[in-house]
Amino acid sequence: MRNSILWAANNSGLRRQVTRSRLARPVARRFVAGETAEQALEATAQLNAQGAHVTLDYLGENVTSELEAAAVRDTYVRLINDIVARKLDCNVSLKLTALGLDVAYQHCHANLRAILETAAAHDIFVRLDMEGSDYTQLTLDLFDQMYVAEGYKNVGVVLQSYLYRSANDVDRMIELQARVRLCKGAYKEPPTLAYPEKADVDRSYRELAQRLLLHGNYPALATHDSAIIDWTQQFVREHKITPDRYEFQMLYGVRRDLQQQLIFAGHHVRVYVPFGEAWYPYLMRRMAERPANLLFILKALRYR
Ligand SMILES: Cc1cc2nc3c(=O)[nH]c(=O)nc-3n(C[C@H](O)[C@H](O)[C@H](O)COP(=O)(O)OP(=O)(O)OC[C@H]3O[C@@H](n4cnc5c(N)ncnc54)[C@H](O)[C@@H]3O)c2cc1C
Repeated sequence: MRNSILWAANNSGLRRQVTRSRLARPVARRFVAGETAEQALEATAQLNAQGAHVTLDYLGENVTSELEAAAVRDTYVRLINDIVARKLDCNVSLKLTALGLDVAYQHCHANLRAILETAAAHDIFVRLDMEGSDYTQLTLDLFDQMYVAEGYKNVGVVLQSYLYRSANDVDRMIELQARVRLCKGAYKEPPTLAYPEKADVDRSYRELAQRLLLHGNYPALATHDSAIIDWTQQFVREHKITPDRYEFQMLYGVRRDLQQQLIFAGHHVRVYVPFGEAWYPYLMRRMAERPANLLFILKALRYR
């Protein structure tokens, strides 16, 4: 099931059909704050009022022209200025393929620098989302370029516990004291690169989380997995790691009950809020993680 849904995520014919459908759009709103920045900023203000921090993601990936990549860059620059003007508790997350990584490394680099420059001027943190394994090394190279070579300390990465290589990448990020978001990984990867069994992905997650919590710089534990979240709460208690040294992260519209519980228990919780017109692949990855979400969508379509 997961593989079929991930296949559908990359199918352009299906994407056209679904995104054109008048019915799908309102249903997507469960997981996507809206198609405009204004809607995303409103959702951010509401989440802030509930005690959650936010990271905003302008949806889009694998752009194929310099022009599109420049438009994404400009959207992020405007977004950062809006976040500052509205005094929101919010940072941004972005995908390098949306900034032109498939078009030319140099363009992507220049676009990223423009965003980091604006963000740094306002003390806003920028997270580089991690995409499929074709982009892992390129993403980490560009991160190194910005963080180590050019000295932008307001940028951080995402590491995926399903990849074998992440154990080494975690060590390197600890060495650099760079901020890491740890997630399990959302893409279809071959067994030569990633653990095929969920139990191994979960075990790897705990091992990497443990290292980051003990030695990392404000790690972000991005998961909705109650067992891992319970384990983390126990681990930080036992090791006297105070809540200002890490945060939990969850996706907009997913396990809202758990988000609130953690906030009430005194943890920092950041909600990842996606917005924009290019919501189809994002939505399909959420379906792949939990096929029950597909039922939610189908039911909603039936009753409209
Ligand atoms: C803030 C954030 C940022 C992320 N950034 C990236 C990234 O940059 N790159 C990347 O590859 N992946 C990213 N992911 C996705 C991540 O890799 C997983 O695919 C996703 O979080 C599902 O894994 P899980 O840890 O929640 O645990 P799972 O083991 O998949 O799920 C555990 C439980 O969580 C609940 N759950 C999980 N997913 C859903 C869902 N979609 N809807 C409803 N309930 C759900 C279910 O109850 C499920 O039983 C991110 C996830 C989060 C939360």
